[in-house]
Amino acid sequence: MTDLLYMRDNYVKEFEAVVMEVTEDSIVTDQTAFYPEGGGQVGDKGFFKNNKSSMEVVNTKRRNREVHHISKNEVPFGIGDSVRGILDWERRYELMRFHTAQHLISRYLQMNHDLETVGNQIKTGQSRADYSPIDEFTDEMITDLEDGIADLVSQEIDVEIQFMPREKAVEFLQERGYQTRYLDMVPKSVKEFRILLIGDYDAASCAGTHVRNTREIGGVTIDKTKNVGSGKQRIYFSLT
Ligand SMILES: [Zn+2]
Repeated sequence: MTDLLYMRDNYVKEFEAVVMEVTEDSIVTDQTAFYPEGGGQVGDKGFFKNNKSSMEVVNTKRRNREVHHISKNEVPFGIGDSVRGILDWERRYELMRFHTAQHLISRYLQMNHDLETVGNQIKTGQSRADYSPIDEFTDEMITDLEDGIADLVSQEIDVEIQFMPREKAVEFLQERGYQTRYLDMVPKSVKEFRILLIGDYDAASCAGTHVRNTREIGGVTIDKTKNVGSGKQRIYFSLT
């Protein structure tokens, strides 16, 4: 199994690795900082290089529980090769800012409007999240949400990753009134949860990549909302 460096440190931009498996279009390495598509967040892009070859990674995906770095061209490496992984950091950092912003939006809407987050898609340019139960977001609610997020960003709240045994994590989140909707969906084989804490403001079980402090998010704009089913509204947001 690949050691997932991004689980402990979201700021690993480059790393050394050894190729463990080669497929027609991908490689698996002994460790990686590339985030594989999942939990609503798109997969990372970048490069693997050594002194002989270079491979452009166009996506990172889980296949059969392994992290596959998908190559743009024919895979130039063989099993046992030492390589250097280099993330497309500008893109990844934008995804981190988006993902932490989504957690803030979700918590703000939970606290102020009793809404649950029922879906999300974290990608560059514009991200989105779905909320329930709600028939319509009024202009007033959207303005209030933007102001609330701006305030949380300006409070420069530290973001922290903690690992907890499954039962303790469930208890921790439930006791403090954090959303626990997704906990049941985590496969029973997962015995340890990764909890993403935004100061005392929010806590959530999340394997995604995040910034270290809310100040890094910068400005957040709610672009539009859309009805996506009965009692369900989608919010599209971007970073400025
Ligand atoms: Zn998340």
